Amino acid sequence: MDCIFCRIIAGEIPAQRVFEDEHTLAFMDINPVSEGHLLVIPKTHVARLFDADPQLLTHTIHTVQRMAKALQTALGVRNLNLLQNNGKAAFQSVDHLHFHLIPRREGDGIGFGWRLVPGDQEVIRQAALRISGVLQQS
Ligand code: 5GP
Ligand code: ZN
Repeated sequence: MDCIFCRIIAGEIPAQRVFEDEHTLAFMDINPVSEGHLLVIPKTHVARLFDADPQLLTHTIHTVQRMAKALQTALGVRNLNLLQNNGKAAFQSVDHLHFHLIPRREGDGIGFGWRLVPGDQEVIRQAALRISGVLQQS
């Protein structure tokens, strides 16, 4: 097995585990962006959101919310980024679906590198049309 998160699930690689149930595991990120940075993963291997079973996602997002509440109670977290990267260009470095829970604090200076620049309305409209078109066929 060459998936590092599957190896964590199997207990072959140590991790600061905080929660697990039949379907999911939550553990501390080894390179925390902020205090309390957690990862939540499904126990069944799937690389990306595109390929994930909806039932597996349901279990995973429930654990995400449970961990968010635990961060709220344990660390007083009131501001939180939920981040889920898919593919290299989107900064995915581990090919096992995972959700980052990143506690935020006023003035922490953390940035995720995108700027708010108004888009071209016609380009936005064209993308919306193509997406809606696909959704109407499915
Ligand atoms: P990605 O960039 O794929 O969305 O995030 C992967 C995350 O997994 C990174 O934040 C990285 O620090 C974390 N990570 C990678 N390897 C390990 C590991 O062996 N143990 C733990 N706890 N976290 C890891
Ligand atoms: Zn895996």
